[in-house]
Amino acid sequence: MSKKIPYRVVLSEEEIPKAWYNVRADMKTDHRPILHPGTLQPVTEADLTPVFCEELVKQELNVKDRFIEIPGEIRDYYKMYRPAPLFRAYFLEKALGTPAKIYYKYEGGNTSGSHKLNSALAQAYYAKKQGLKGVTTETGAGQWGTALSMACSYFGLDCKVYMVKISSQQKPYRKAVIETYGAKIIPSPSDTTNIGRKMLSDNPDSTGSLGTAISEAVEVAVSTEGYRYVLGSVLNQVLLHQSVIGLEAKAAMEKIDEYPDIVIGCAGGGSNLGGLMSAFMADRLAGKTAPYFIAVEPASCPSLTRGKFAYDFCDTGMVTPLAKMYTLGASFLPPSNHAGGLRYHGMSPILSQLYHDGYIDEARAVEQTSVFKAATEFAKTEGILPAPESSHAIRVTIDEALKCKETGEAKTILFGLSGTGYFDMTAYMQYNDGTMTDYIPTDADLQRGFDAIPKLPGIQ
Ligand SMILES: *Cc1c(COP(=O)(O)O)cnc(C)c1O
Repeated sequence: MSKKIPYRVVLSEEEIPKAWYNVRADMKTDHRPILHPGTLQPVTEADLTPVFCEELVKQELNVKDRFIEIPGEIRDYYKMYRPAPLFRAYFLEKALGTPAKIYYKYEGGNTSGSHKLNSALAQAYYAKKQGLKGVTTETGAGQWGTALSMACSYFGLDCKVYMVKISSQQKPYRKAVIETYGAKIIPSPSDTTNIGRKMLSDNPDSTGSLGTAISEAVEVAVSTEGYRYVLGSVLNQVLLHQSVIGLEAKAAMEKIDEYPDIVIGCAGGGSNLGGLMSAFMADRLAGKTAPYFIAVEPASCPSLTRGKFAYDFCDTGMVTPLAKMYTLGASFLPPSNHAGGLRYHGMSPILSQLYHDGYIDEARAVEQTSVFKAATEFAKTEGILPAPESSHAIRVTIDEALKCKETGEAKTILFGLSGTGYFDMTAYMQYNDGTMTDYIPTDADLQRGFDAIPKLPGIQ
């Protein structure tokens, strides 16, 4: 008899990773270099340091070091909410009647309610270490803004958050939390920047997008003394910081002699999935037995499943460098009926390359009503009220577990429960009263976004 696996596996404080894992050092083909928007040459440290903190630029460009030590001050703060637990979803398994063994790594156990604090802390730490006065950023659903405001208050930095206008209206409590931690919120598009004023004159009723908010935050960072810009997803450095999720998950599973057959995560900009996957992707890249990886995205913003793998701007205002990634075009705006998060037009270049090369086995797009059905089922059985973003992963986990029920296979499934949904009750209310709708962009809708992808003769 194998010993009974507990409901939750929690590592000790000592087992919090001492180094982040840099998957780029192991990738067979690195992603194409990020290009300067003016010269179209690969960006250099010198190009990036006016925008980003110096140490973070080094991490962004680091393709050599497999492990990068986590500074002691960051590890100390991690101890407030890490190690994050790994749960065995016994109740969900029972409700589904599946022979599959379902595990989830839960990153919602801090006030930001998501994994984003893992990177916010690192970024605020390096900004402080460089002697900066403050940072600017954008936030969509609000988790990143919350995480960054927490990290900035801890390290004593000013923090300006450009919040996608529709989110700031739909989530007044999220805004209040951010302000409680001392950050300043500016709904985007705003009249505080050139790009914001231009967006407003083109479309006074714009509800905003992450891409526009990024443009505004970058503009303010580069034009304000002692400020730099920080970003909560997509970037290589963010995936690096999020590797703690996968390192802990793998260590926790080793304790109970488990190894996943399938790893599932939701993908907006790619950071929680990239982080969860990382330690297991190391096995795949080393040619060892490894899980089947599934990235899940909304059918309304389907960058991996229907996007183009092309060089594109990371923001709507087209001021950021160009990255080779799966993209719907920087001008793509998700429909306003789209509930929480995962609204970004592009995807992490690391994840994009891994997907392109077949190391991420599959991307799946799911519709929001089916996502909320899964979210509700999960909340009722496992108790945790999941974030809409994370619920995309739950949807596919349930689908895979039900396949196991048909075939009788007892697969081991690990998914990332990236956060909680306490600030997403507007969307839950829509689901509960039956007014939530689905939307799948037509090919013509997507074509409009693709048409705006820059044509770069001679560059692939
Ligand atoms: C931000 C966020 C996401 C999406 O971002 P990724 O970079 O793709 O991880 C997913 N889940 C939660 C809870 C989030 O806050």
